[in-house]
Amino acid sequence: MELIKDIDRMRTYIERIEKGKIIGFVPTMGGFHEGHLSLIRKGREDSDVLVVSIFVNPTQFGPEEDFESYPRDLERDVKWCKQEGVDVVFAPSREEMYPDDYSTFVEVEGYLTSTLEGNSRPGHFRGITTILTKLFNIVSPDRSYFGEKDYQQHLVVRKLVRELNLNMEIVTLPTVREKDGLALSSRNSYLTREERKAATILYRSLLRAKENTLQGIRDAKAIISDIKDLIRGEPLARIDYVAIVDPATLKMIEKIEKEVVLLLAVKIGGHRLIDNLRIRPL
Ligand code: AMP
Repeated sequence: MELIKDIDRMRTYIERIEKGKIIGFVPTMGGFHEGHLSLIRKGREDSDVLVVSIFVNPTQFGPEEDFESYPRDLERDVKWCKQEGVDVVFAPSREEMYPDDYSTFVEVEGYLTSTLEGNSRPGHFRGITTILTKLFNIVSPDRSYFGEKDYQQHLVVRKLVRELNLNMEIVTLPTVREKDGLALSSRNSYLTREERKAATILYRSLLRAKENTLQGIRDAKAIISDIKDLIRGEPLARIDYVAIVDPATLKMIEKIEKEVVLLLAVKIGGHRLIDNLRIRPL
């Protein structure tokens, strides 16, 4: 396995790949857990050459967010990649990706990027679509792998690829969870033992909403208000949003008649966690 840290060397590596070989790509910010590994394993299965990038992207963090403290352990992540049979880890420097006078951004405009995460984290998706466009240009993948855990992100990335006519396929894989349902996230490492326990409120809320729907409740407002009450009962939790939306457009749903997605963002002791679940009425 190669660890490549500069853009020119990464490009040269890609240029030397025989024509017709399938290049798979898993973009990450590192701090690996089983969620990342599920993308890497699927990418390994599907591709001739598998590239994993590790880059904590400053442009997707707001000024008050955790860019500085975000978990970084390149050595450990590289070791995991080796074990999984990854061909190349691309870990560029911030200076090379964003030189001091950097001023070019790629933005998916409109509702999809301004609602929910976009509303709570202004500029977040602009940072993501900018870094991904840069990485896609460097790596030229045939397929890129994303997790459903970041539900809105995967829709935004699909729109980016479609509208910029990028010649690649986006593959989305299911959320990997702990035994108690907590979605794996690099940010879970911030949680104290108490907070970790409280964090199960996210998945418990999703399950409760599913249960309510399966029992015939169709009024999204009623389901949301029930969940909000449940979350408010957890002293360490503070709700950012709870929404029931159309899986493709993220438009708010009033009456649940077909598959919907329940999306939520909750702060647990100051650490912001997100999760989601697709729910189909019987
Ligand atoms: P990150 O390093 O957090 O930017 O995540 C890199 C990729 O891993 C993104 O496509 C995420 O959606 C995906 N991912 C993060 N957590 C999970 C999880 N628990 N299950 C599946 N995929 C995940």
